[in-house]
Amino acid sequence: MNIENPKSLIVIFGATGDLANRKLFPSIYRLFIGGKLSKHFGVIGVARRPKTNDEFRTNVKEALQEASIPVSDEAIIDEFCRHFFYHPFDVTNKDSYQSLNQLLSSLDEQFQVGGNRIFYLAMAPEFFGTIASKLKSEGLTDTAGWKRLVIEKPFGHNSPSAEELNEKIRDAFSEDEIYRIDHYLGKEMVQNIEVIRFANALFEPLWNNRYISNIQITSSETLGVGDRASYYEKSGALRDMVQNHMLQMVALLAMEPPSRLQTEEVRSEKVKVLRSLRRIHIDEVDDYFVRGQYDRGTINGKETIGYREENGTEPESNTETFVAGKLLIDNFRWAGVPFYIRTGKRMTVKSTKIVIEFKDMPMNLYFPAGEERRPNVLVIHIQPDEGITLHINAKSSGPSSGTIPIKMDYSNNSVNSMNTPEAYERLLYDCLRGDATNFTHWDEVALSWKFIDSISEAWAMRKANDFPNYAAGSMGPTQSDMLLEKDGFHWWPLDH
Ligand code: NAP
Repeated sequence: MNIENPKSLIVIFGATGDLANRKLFPSIYRLFIGGKLSKHFGVIGVARRPKTNDEFRTNVKEALQEASIPVSDEAIIDEFCRHFFYHPFDVTNKDSYQSLNQLLSSLDEQFQVGGNRIFYLAMAPEFFGTIASKLKSEGLTDTAGWKRLVIEKPFGHNSPSAEELNEKIRDAFSEDEIYRIDHYLGKEMVQNIEVIRFANALFEPLWNNRYISNIQITSSETLGVGDRASYYEKSGALRDMVQNHMLQMVALLAMEPPSRLQTEEVRSEKVKVLRSLRRIHIDEVDDYFVRGQYDRGTINGKETIGYREENGTEPESNTETFVAGKLLIDNFRWAGVPFYIRTGKRMTVKSTKIVIEFKDMPMNLYFPAGEERRPNVLVIHIQPDEGITLHINAKSSGPSSGTIPIKMDYSNNSVNSMNTPEAYERLLYDCLRGDATNFTHWDEVALSWKFIDSISEAWAMRKANDFPNYAAGSMGPTQSDMLLEKDGFHWWPLDH
């Protein structure tokens, strides 16, 4: 097989939905014009509403326009769209699967893909198990080539439900055929964490509890819940962001160097970190975690409504739209170093950043006792800016012996004027090539849920009497600042 230009049919379940239109079609197109897809591919869109192939292809073109992809040559777009087909379908209907299988067989011939099939589940999670089972029982997984299942978040809503789902899909697909998407793992600077750590003699020797005082990960949004209230009311920020994206970043920051850059090696190091996460007992949750829910406020000069006033939310909703937490990793490298995380909606800025704060020198001649110190800090900018900033101290110019803070910046955006590939584009390409490194293994999912469960159980049992407790446009409730202050730290400003 030519691994650089893989051949496959890609079946997208939920092809009329938001994810398919905003992310998947543009990503497949970028792979196509980037020469990363051979001519041997076909995309089959599947959803309930009736549509002809032509109507579906028109939708695909519209999705490309919406994604602001420059269309330089209509003929290329038309050629791309000729690989797209639509199959009206109902998840629970056996006949739908059989007719889909017939279509796949004929497209397999037409595009000469050697029986390779990707089944991408871009649908509501309650359908994941049923689809996987039916793919097997109706013979769609019986193919001459390879088969892969791509599955979106959320993977369950707690440990037992994740286990149940996993058993169902493992009945039809083996672990190495399952690609659980965490799109953060496709982001340029998240992938860069390993390179920054393991390719720089400057950082790796310092990357431990002897030199690092604390690590902070923030992922903030300015948007509110929008039209996702029906999902979000059941999920909240803890399940939506912490169980997956935030814990994945913690794992990448804390893992030991893998012996080789291979899927199994990288994943097993991440698993070890998640295993070393200190579990929080249900009675201790308030000591380690803070929850928040946004009130009315002002963002970018515009007044916004509170969470409980949003369409589809409960007037007395207990759902958290903000989480801050302190995580401890009980292993030799990290004992005693807090990893602080925070994520929320309707915050001051949209930003994902990692801050690594180094310990001070044993004796710092330039910052006498009583004077405020400026610790060295490495900031990894994940989004929207991509890059790193190193904060160091230097002598202020002139005869004085004073010091000034200096920033050493590397910005991916300005160095590389090309758009960095969308996370979905990169992950789809990895899946086509059979590289599962940047997808989450079941062991990671299982351990993450085990960590999260006691927190969500405590919060479900004890209603938050102070909700809403932060104004839209702020950086969350004051308890989030106190979480760090009681350890002698503070959140590093996001505009640094
Ligand atoms: P969505 O816009 O609601 O789309 C759902 C899709 O499922 C539609 O195409 C719908 O089409 C189809 N569908 C619903 N019931 C069906 C049935 N019984 N049989 C066949 N098709 C059915 O959802 P989405 O936002 O694209 O999200 C899809 C998945 O991706 C979810 O698991 C979500 O959590 C995950 N995800 C989404 C995003 C995002 O940015 N949107 C980000 C991360 C993860 P018809 O109505 O035509 O049937």
